[in-house]
Amino acid sequence: MERQPIFILPENVQRMMGRDAQRNNIMAARLVADTVKTTLGPKGMDKMLVSSIGDITVTNDGVTILEEMEIEHPAAKMMVEIAKTQEAAVGDGTTTAVVIAGKLLENAEFLLDKKIHPTVIAKGYRIAAEKAQEILEEIATKITPKEELLLKYIAMTAMTGKGAETAKDKFSDIVVKAVKMVYENNKVDMANIKLEKRKGKGVEDSELIEGIVLDKEKVHGDMPSFVKNAKIALIDSALEIKNLETDTKISVSSPEQLQEFLNQEEKILKNMVEKIKKAGANVVFCQKGIDDIAQYYLTKGGIYACRRIAKSDMDKLAKATGGKIISNLNELTGKELGKAAEVSEEKEGEEALTNIKGCPNPKALTILIRGGTEHVIDEMERAIKDALGDVAAALTVGKIVAGGGGIEAELAKRLRDFSQGLSGREQLAVEQFVAALESIPATLAENAGLDPIDVLTELKARHEKGEKNAGLNLFTNKIEDVMKVGIIEPLKIKTQAIDSASEVAMMILRIDDVIASSGGGAPRGMPHGGMGGMPEGGEY
Ligand code: ADP
Ligand code: MG
Repeated sequence: MERQPIFILPENVQRMMGRDAQRNNIMAARLVADTVKTTLGPKGMDKMLVSSIGDITVTNDGVTILEEMEIEHPAAKMMVEIAKTQEAAVGDGTTTAVVIAGKLLENAEFLLDKKIHPTVIAKGYRIAAEKAQEILEEIATKITPKEELLLKYIAMTAMTGKGAETAKDKFSDIVVKAVKMVYENNKVDMANIKLEKRKGKGVEDSELIEGIVLDKEKVHGDMPSFVKNAKIALIDSALEIKNLETDTKISVSSPEQLQEFLNQEEKILKNMVEKIKKAGANVVFCQKGIDDIAQYYLTKGGIYACRRIAKSDMDKLAKATGGKIISNLNELTGKELGKAAEVSEEKEGEEALTNIKGCPNPKALTILIRGGTEHVIDEMERAIKDALGDVAAALTVGKIVAGGGGIEAELAKRLRDFSQGLSGREQLAVEQFVAALESIPATLAENAGLDPIDVLTELKARHEKGEKNAGLNLFTNKIEDVMKVGIIEPLKIKTQAIDSASEVAMMILRIDDVIASSGGGAPRGMPHGGMGGMPEGGEY
C-alpha cells in the first residue's frame, strides 16, 4: 500500500527549510545591499525612483531608496529596517549600515559552504560586534561644542557628493549654528528645527531664520501684511459650516425662507469670528479650511489668517509660540493664544511666505532651503537632514571618528589582533566580520573608480604602521590623515551601524525555516508544500 504524505499546514502555505531557506534569505538581503552599494560615498551614483503614480525622486540617500522601493521579500524587509533604525537613531549612515549587513551575510555564506554551523558564525559575529563597540569607544576622539570648525567639517562630510554639495560651505555653517542653538542639557531637540523648501531664487539665498516660516499666504488680500505683538489662535477645526449630510434635503417654499437660511449660516460664521476676536487674537492659523464669509469677517476685524496648515507645522507653531491648539472655539478664552513679536507676509513673485518671528521659545528655527527645481531642493533637504543628524550626534555623544573608511580600517586592524586569541571556528567568523568592515573603504574606492584592492592594501599597511586616522581622501584620491583634512564623522554613525547590521545578520543566519501563508509576502520561487514532500534540511 502507498504511504500517504501527512499535511500539518494548510495547502496555501509556502515553506522553505534548511540550507535552501538560508540561501534564499541571504540572497535577498544581499540584493538589497547591492542595490544601495553603488551610492556609497561622495563619488557614489544616484538612483532615479519612479513611483506607481509617476512621481520621480532622484537620490543617493540609502533609506529613501529602500523606502521607495516597496520591497516585499521578508528577509529583504529586515534589511530595510536597518536603514530605518539608522535613520531614526542618527539620521545618516544608512547606506553604510546596509552595506555592512549585506557583506556580513555574504561572508557568512562562505563559511556555511565550509560547513561551519550558522550558530557558530552568529556567535563569532556577536563576539566581534561587542568587541568592536569597545574598540570604537577607545579610538574615537573627543569633541566639545566649542570646536566649531570640527563640527563644520562633520556637516561638510555628510553633504559631500550630495545634492547640497554646491552650497556645502554655506549649509554647513547654517547646520552648525542651528544645532548649537537648540543644543541644551546635552540634548538636541530636532523638533525645534523646521526645514522649509522654496522653489525659485538660488541655493545661495538659503538662510537660517530665527522663528517659523510657513509656506502659506494670508487667506485674504485685504488682511494686514504685518502684525506686531501677535496673539495667535491655533485652531485645528474648520472655520466653516459643516457640510450637510449628502442626502439631507432642505425644502424652502419662499425666497424669504432661503434668505433666512443663508442669514442663519452667515450668523454662525460671524459668531465664530466673534469668539476669536473676543479672545484677543489678531492672528489665526487654521489647520483646516476657512469659509469666504469667515474670511470676510476676519479681514474686517484686522486679523491675519492662514488656512490648511500641516499638522506638523501646527505642532511646531504651538511649541514656538507657547500657544495651545484648540478644536472647539468655545474653549478659546485667551489663555490658549500663542505669542510672537511679529507675524508678516513676505511676497515672492506670485507666491508668499508667512514669517513668525520673535517667538517666546527662542529655539524655534527654520532653515529656508532655496533652489531651482523641486528635485534638487528635495535632495538638498535630505543632505541637510543628514548633516543636522551628524552634528547633533557629535555634540550629544561628544566623540568623532575618521571618515573615508579610516575608522573601519583601524577597527579591522584591532579586531584582527583580538581574533588571534579565539578558538578556530570563532576566529574564522571574526575574520569575516573584519572583512565586512573593510568593505566600506573598498566600496568608497570602487565607487570612485579606484582599484579597491590597491586602496585596501595601502590602507592596511598604513594602519599597521600606526597611522590610526589614515583614510581614503576622495578629494585627492590619496590615503592620508583624514582627520587633518576634515573628513570626519560622528562616532554614533558607526556604533549604530555596526550594532544594527550585526543584529540583523545574526537574525537572518539563525533562520532555517520559512513558513509563509500566501499573501504574507512569501519569497518568490518558494516551493509549495505542507509537511509532505519535506526537503532535506540541515545539510551542514
Ligand atoms: P551613508 O548613507 O552611509 O551616510 P554616504 O553616501 O553618505 O552613505 O557616504 C558616507 C561615506 O562617505 C562615509 O564612509 C564617509 O566617511 C565617506 N566620505 C564622505 N566624504 C568623503 C571624502 N571627502 N573622502 C572620502 N570619503 C568620504
Ligand atoms: Mg551620509
